[in-house]
Order: sequence, then structure tokens, then C-alpha cells
Amino acid sequence: MCRHLGYVGPPVGVGELVVRGPHSLYAQSWVPTDMRAGGTINADGFGVAWWRRADVGVEGARDAVTRYRNHAPIWTDPAVAEVLGQLESRSVIAAVRSATVGMPVERSACAPFTDEHWAFSHNGVIPDWRTTLVAVLADLNEVFATASRDLDESPSSAMLFDSPAVLLQAESLTDSAALWVLLRGLLRAIAPAGPVTSPDDALQLLVAAVLRHQPGTRLNLLLGNGIQLWATTCWHALSVLVADDYTVLCSEPYDADPRWQSVDDHQLVAATPGHCTITALELPATERVRS
Ligand code: GLN
Repeated sequence: MCRHLGYVGPPVGVGELVVRGPHSLYAQSWVPTDMRAGGTINADGFGVAWWRRADVGVEGARDAVTRYRNHAPIWTDPAVAEVLGQLESRSVIAAVRSATVGMPVERSACAPFTDEHWAFSHNGVIPDWRTTLVAVLADLNEVFATASRDLDESPSSAMLFDSPAVLLQAESLTDSAALWVLLRGLLRAIAPAGPVTSPDDALQLLVAAVLRHQPGTRLNLLLGNGIQLWATTCWHALSVLVADDYTVLCSEPYDADPRWQSVDDHQLVAATPGHCTITALELPATERVRS
């Protein structure tokens, strides 16, 4: 179990958000209350991503994501108050980590993982992740090959990933870092006429492919681009707070605000400031049986 948090809305103090509330993400590192048998405390590091404003007037410029990570417990790092406390952002993704048994405890294993304007966190575990993700990669390539055949393109343009060796680009030897290699590939392939037209499609395709090979996989994903947030629930907790002008997603509510709503299992959440939609994920038959 890890715990993660996403925010979109008016500029907010990055450090303040991490310590906000009596049951802040900071506190959830040592007293999480909804662990669902996925660990005890989240003391194997943490990370925070925020977005710097794009240069005004530069056509096509997007807010650039940047991050801070440390493999030590969050409560040992004065940078949370002293550095992150100085920063403001219109969006934040933060995570505290409980390393899955057998996975390394190092800075590069800590979410958020980033690429271009994307930031990503995974709360969960993929059993037998090396074999599973090689099989998932083959499935995703097949989806693209089929779509390409339908569009009557040449077979060479069909592959999403040239080879399973792309998984070696994972920043760390963990399920989450390798999963990010696949998700960022899908995000880079977003196109109006392809099999992935939106981040929602990318998450749906990826989750269904993993569950097809490993039913019951814990896959609470959190994705942001500085403007919007997306999340999935698969066997872990998630709550959403929709306020007038901001939205927060968090593994556990950080305070007693009555607007917190708990998200059911197997949902896809899409959030913008003050707005959130929750739709059921399309699941492979094996996962439907299990749930
Ligand atoms: N399996 C991931 C890791 O080891 C996430 C762990 C978790 O959610 N506890 O980093």
C-alpha cells in the first residue's frame, strides 16, 4: 500500500497540501487507516510533483511538471516544510510509499513518475510483474496492430512498442516504474483516429490488459497533466472531494469535510477544478467473476 493525493484548482501551497488536515498525506505515512491488507506504514520514501507555469505567449506551451523525491520517510525530511512550503501550483500529485516486498527502496522507485507534462503514481502491486507486463505489452501491440489493419496502414506503423526491451527503460526495478513505461507509451500515442484518443482510453486499456493476465491485481492509479487528474480504483481505497473551485483525490480523506465521497472499486475517475466524473471500468470476465 502506498497513499497518494492529487489536486487541481487555484494555486495552492505545495507543502501545505501535503500536511493539510488532521489526517494529511503526511500523517497517512505512519497512521493510514484503510490499508486493505496491503501493508502497514508508508515509510519507504515519498514524492511530490507540481507544475511550473508555461511561458505566456509561446504557442502550444504547456505547464511543465517538476518533482521532488526522497527514499527516506517523509517525516524525516525538512524539505517538506522548508522547500515545498515555498512553492505554489495549480496542480499537485504526491505519494508516500510502502515498498512491495522484494522491491528496492531507492529514490528512483518513488512516485510520482513523470514524462513531458505527465505525472503518475501507482498504489498497489502487480503479481509476477515482469512476466505480466511483457504479456500486457504484447496485448497493447495487438490492439494497435488491429486498429492499424482496420485503417489499412502498413504493418510497420502498427507497433506501439518496438520490443519488450522497452521495459528496461523503467527508472527502477519495480512494478510501478515498469507500468509507467507502458502507460506513457499509450499517452504518447494519443491521436484522434487511433485506439487511444484520450488519457481515459489509455488507463482503461492498460487496466483491462493487466487484469486479463493477473485478475485481482491492485491497481489504484493516479495521473495528472497539470490541468486534469485521472484515477482508477482496483482493490484499494480512494476518496474524492469536489469543492466549488478545486478537486482533490486522496487514498484517505485528510479531514472531516462532509463533501468527501468514497469511490467504489473498479472505477475510472476524471477530475477538473470543481468537477469530477466517475464511470465504471470495463473489466475482463475473469475480474468480474472475482468481484
Ligand atoms: N508496488 C509499488 C512499489 O513497490 C507500490 C507499492 C504500494 O502501493 N504499496 O512501489
